[in-house]
Amino acid sequence: MGGPAEFGASKVQTNGRGPNVNHATTAPGPPVATVRPSTSIPSRIVTLVAVLVPPLGVLSAIGVLWGVAVRPVDLVMLVVLYVATGLGITVGYHRLFSHKSFKTTPAIRGLFAVLGSMTIQGPVTQWVTDHRKHHALSDREGDPHSPHGHRDGLFGGLRGFLHAHMGWLITTKGMERGRRYGRDLYDDPVVRRIDRLYMLWVVLSLGVPFAVGYAVDPTLRGGLTGLVWGGLVRIFLFHHMTWSVNSICHTFGRRPFATDDESRNNWIIALPTFGEGWHNNHHAFPGSAIHGLGRRQVDMSWWTIRLLERLGLAWDVKVPAAERIARRAGAQATPST
Ligand SMILES: [Zn+2]
Ligand SMILES: [Zn+2]
Repeated sequence: MGGPAEFGASKVQTNGRGPNVNHATTAPGPPVATVRPSTSIPSRIVTLVAVLVPPLGVLSAIGVLWGVAVRPVDLVMLVVLYVATGLGITVGYHRLFSHKSFKTTPAIRGLFAVLGSMTIQGPVTQWVTDHRKHHALSDREGDPHSPHGHRDGLFGGLRGFLHAHMGWLITTKGMERGRRYGRDLYDDPVVRRIDRLYMLWVVLSLGVPFAVGYAVDPTLRGGLTGLVWGGLVRIFLFHHMTWSVNSICHTFGRRPFATDDESRNNWIIALPTFGEGWHNNHHAFPGSAIHGLGRRQVDMSWWTIRLLERLGLAWDVKVPAAERIARRAGAQATPST
């Protein structure tokens, strides 16, 4: 799926309301590399269980601890901060900074960069360069977080899952940080300033829920309860949801577009990731601001971009032309799993 040259080279028109803006997604191909074989069925099952069980455990904990160590204000903070910081990743880090799928003001770029930093997934330059490398080498040698091509059988599947979901964070994350995949970001003073202050956003991400929890119940326990639910649990949940795009959405789901990787559309992941689970659509049209291309494909990140556009705060919004979507969908799509 296109090398780094593609990220700023799309043919764009302004005011993309509906599928009427042409977007060039066929940039020159990536370096030649061997396609990795896809993962076996047992490994897919392991992936599904390991990703879905921990968040279900958190939901159980809320039920068990309700009224004891969870207050309504904690859940409100959990939801509000999950949505706000999550959009910082999906709209900001991903669609704005990684793929340049729309343009906006420096203040809004800064806001999305700060909100994304508050998910504690790394500074903008690190996240974006890793992600652009993922698109350049999807499921091939050099992809920072492919679940495929590790080993066969249950052990190999588990290994592939662990690598795609979390293992890559301590092995390959940040390896591509630099101008090769991120020249535009290093030339952007807003991004550079916010990246330099990364630790401040981390402290804020934990400090805000502590302060609100303390304001409601001015004891150490009040502050810590806010910190746990509005900070730690919220970060844990969104981490897993984001990593699920790398692991589950390259393993389970439908492939309406015959991309040269293992990307898949998965509605279960699309909901808590605000549309990022329409991952096969995204690999087919990486520069598109909209990922939910189907009528019932909920895409909250796209709604956010449309809202900004209607407010006059976003422009040059890229969406693929309807004919182009139809043409690609008709071209040898592989069966769903
Ligand atoms: Zn992918
Ligand atoms: Zn992407």
